Amino acid sequence: MSEPFDRLQAVRARIATAAAAAGRAEDSVRLLAVGKTRPPEDLAALRALGQRAFGENYVQEAEAKMAALAGLDLEWHYIGRVQTNKTRPIAERFHWVHGLADLHHARRLNEQRPPDLPPLHVCIQVNVSGERSKGGVSPEAVAELARAVSALPRLRLRGLMTIPAPAATPEAQRAPYRALRELRDRLGAGGLELDTLSMGMSDDLEAAIVEGATLVRVGTALFGPRPAGAGARLG
Ligand SMILES: *Cc1c(COP(=O)(O)O)cnc(C)c1O
Repeated sequence: MSEPFDRLQAVRARIATAAAAAGRAEDSVRLLAVGKTRPPEDLAALRALGQRAFGENYVQEAEAKMAALAGLDLEWHYIGRVQTNKTRPIAERFHWVHGLADLHHARRLNEQRPPDLPPLHVCIQVNVSGERSKGGVSPEAVAELARAVSALPRLRLRGLMTIPAPAATPEAQRAPYRALRELRDRLGAGGLELDTLSMGMSDDLEAAIVEGATLVRVGTALFGPRPAGAGARLG
């Protein structure tokens, strides 16, 4: 037994319990290990235990880890804010992007995705709780952006993502996740089927799974507390 093993087992057990409580299959929820601020060895330890999908917020930090962990067959997800001057390395190096919120960025990613790679999987980030500080498009703007993104051949629109404000009660945790699911359902009714809801983190993954999360992004619960000050640019 080791600390990474214990933590991974504990997170998997939480996912399984929440899925069962919601009447969902355990394998309907993917675990994305969020490695920001963690050294490559910590990611390699989880890889050795079977974890393959890793999320990173900062492009330079991610590139250093990609180099250090080359050959381990990892799947890299960019979960930070997309910035115009970072679209090229994102398009060239990552498999997924979760924080897309702007058609200009989508067009650049589409143009910059290398032709020898499969299309870049993307989720549109939605600001369901309406806070000014959080990234993401407003719920009203999602349909138009989703239609435009889905027409870009080098991107593959998979779903929606959100980072809600921290909430005190389980019911309050569920509200923004329910809103994201309903948004996804409305897009589906309008003919745009999306298979991914990227929602839920260490503190609230149960609430997200009950509301339909298909991918939870978990850092602290897998790796332990981040050093003070690290990750302050969250969202
Ligand atoms: C850091 C981060 C997470 C993981 O947060 P934890 O609370 O450590 O599980 C998930 N999503 C995004 C976008 C993040 O930046």
